[in-house]
Amino acid sequence: MNNKAKDNLLHSLNIKLAERPQKIAVARESGNKLVGYFCPYGTEEMILAANLIPIRLAFGGDSESISAGEAFLKGHSCPYACSSIGNKKLSINDYYNSLDGVCIAQTYDSMKILGDYYQNYFKLPVFPLGLPRTHNALRSKSHAFDYFKNELKLLQTRLGGFSGKTATDFKMHQAINLCNRIRDKLLFLYKLPQDRNTPIEWRQILKITQAGFLLDRADYLKELEGIEKALRNKSSDKGLDDKRSRLMIVGSLIGIGDEKILDIIEQTGGNIVADCVCTGSMFLRKKVPTFGILSAPIDGLTERYLYNVPCPFMIDKSRRLSRIVKTAKDYRVHGMVYYNLRSNETWRSEFKAIKDVLYRNLSIPTLLIETDYSSEDKEEITEKVKSFLKLVGG
Ligand code: SF4
Repeated sequence: MNNKAKDNLLHSLNIKLAERPQKIAVARESGNKLVGYFCPYGTEEMILAANLIPIRLAFGGDSESISAGEAFLKGHSCPYACSSIGNKKLSINDYYNSLDGVCIAQTYDSMKILGDYYQNYFKLPVFPLGLPRTHNALRSKSHAFDYFKNELKLLQTRLGGFSGKTATDFKMHQAINLCNRIRDKLLFLYKLPQDRNTPIEWRQILKITQAGFLLDRADYLKELEGIEKALRNKSSDKGLDDKRSRLMIVGSLIGIGDEKILDIIEQTGGNIVADCVCTGSMFLRKKVPTFGILSAPIDGLTERYLYNVPCPFMIDKSRRLSRIVKTAKDYRVHGMVYYNLRSNETWRSEFKAIKDVLYRNLSIPTLLIETDYSSEDKEEITEKVKSFLKLVGG
């Protein structure tokens, strides 16, 4: 798809994005409150059902926000965690400036302490959400399930108290249906690059996904419906003779604005076609099961958030490994780029296991890129990617 066609496809979505801060300002003036969350475990259905505005604060790529965050977290902490507090401190991001509260899933250490800082330094209400470290079906299924379900119940009560509107089962069902429909639409898009003749490339789909972190959920669904309609029956102008290496990107989250690695891959002639990152397709894999209108929605939410493809802060590596191998196979990738934000131990510790399993099963090589949001290592990374592309070919 040429640049003009790309712009047309996302035109309406981009307008909605540009208008969003103003719309949020109006909604807040009439009494609505905005609750931000960082990790996808933040359970947007729960925030929605309590009549609050959910915004996923998945911003990245800005080195100033890291420096500002280092005044709170130690230097060399995860760049995303640092910028997640640095953005608030700097007051330059409309979404951070509009926060009325934050929901913080208790994943890794830097993320856990964010809650204290938000509460004590920015005087914002914080809603922590405890997560079990394992959801292994044989070892811990029932106690992990019960623990997480109780955490969600607590969150439901707290969010309802905060908004003054109880998150009833009916409202939870509505929120679940809306978010499930959004996941369906996004999954439709993510499947397209399996075909060399795809009418849309992965990088654009990532942009569409990231837009969804910020937009009103019902508006976003309408946008996705429009994009899907435009893409059906449309074929790529690159086509079957596209010689670029097909790559999969795996690892730390790729935040809104974190373009460095994506630009480098594109400029050196690589083509990302698939991912296993939590701001991409990784967390969309499972929908919230709805066992009829009379079922308890909290059970469906527990099931979905706990038994999705888990982030590595949870044990149960096997599920991640099998998902990565299957994805690499389905998208016929030539190589994997393992993207690790410096000091992000959650993903980094699994690098060898993932690299080895991919090579053993599919003879696919892996390139490790460890970086942060600065541009200092751009040349070094470019050289690494170039050599890797020569190795994997196309
Ligand atoms: S990588 Fe894991 S811990 Fe980090 S935001 Fe994504 S799901 Fe949360």
